[in-house]
Amino acid sequence: MTGRWVIIATDRSKRPSDFVRERVQIRGTSFCPFCYHHEAKTPPEIMAYRPDGSPRNSPGWTLRVVPNKFPALGIEGILGRQGEGLYDKMNGIGAHEVIIETPDHNLTLAGMPASQIEDVLWAYRDRIVDLTRDRRFKYILIFKNHGDAAGASLEHTHSQLIALPVVPKRVLEELEGAKSYYGYKERCVFCDMIQQELESRTRVVAENDGFLAVAPFAPRFPFELWILPKSHQSAFEDSRKDEFEQLASILKDMLMRIDKVLDLPAYNFIVHTSPTPDTENDYYHWHFEIMPKLTKVAGFEWGTGFYINPTPPEEAAKFLREAVV
Ligand SMILES: [Zn+2]
Ligand SMILES: [Zn+2]
Ligand SMILES: [Zn+2]
Repeated sequence: MTGRWVIIATDRSKRPSDFVRERVQIRGTSFCPFCYHHEAKTPPEIMAYRPDGSPRNSPGWTLRVVPNKFPALGIEGILGRQGEGLYDKMNGIGAHEVIIETPDHNLTLAGMPASQIEDVLWAYRDRIVDLTRDRRFKYILIFKNHGDAAGASLEHTHSQLIALPVVPKRVLEELEGAKSYYGYKERCVFCDMIQQELESRTRVVAENDGFLAVAPFAPRFPFELWILPKSHQSAFEDSRKDEFEQLASILKDMLMRIDKVLDLPAYNFIVHTSPTPDTENDYYHWHFEIMPKLTKVAGFEWGTGFYINPTPPEEAAKFLREAVV
């Protein structure tokens, strides 16, 4: 899909217990702006789920979306894209939002009931649908950093959204790979991959009616996991109610398996979906990529774009598949 090669270092093959790192544990010791009664410590909320009808920016919410207090990009202004000699520049326009997944400081996403995880997915969808109307944005990325080592600066469980004025490079690589495959075969490369993985089953971790969780053939990181809708869907936000239910259930299951097998690791996940002007297409297939933080990216990776992965995906899939949760 992307032309990326990885080195599966089988001679230094690592089992889950071989990875030395700190477990992610909630300490709850410092002041938390994401807890009840601290609503004034975040910028005013963009959206919240308030089943009790409580007023904005007060307790009573079950999920809350606020602007990032230290945004990477600013929402106001024009792009002003221009050249400077052979270089290009533009203003840092975008949206940077935080999805506070629960008021409960002690919960992790894996530990939340599936119905609450489904609410988190609806919040992603609601924000994507709203931001897509802003024509300045070309791409909306949802991601989550869990644990210090994965870049989370606050331990209270949350996800983030960044709306970007350009399609980012990583996504572009996948899009272009998928487009060229489609141009040649008139089939979606992800759909073909899903079919092949379901036939061979060596890298399949779990599946339900709508979704497949799989260790990809060329994973950059040990225990990297992808979750994909089994039938072709180019845009995350077009999912139906029953699909969000099934996605919540398989996502919870995968996060619990990762916690069990790898002993509460830090992790990142990202949602890759189609760019906003072209959400309905036959070649791109939205998916989750989950990356437990077990190895360090060092000079070789930076210099080449190759990744060295000490755990073959077939072994990772087997450990995760056989975990009892
Ligand atoms: Zn908190
Ligand atoms: Zn597809
Ligand atoms: Zn992707």
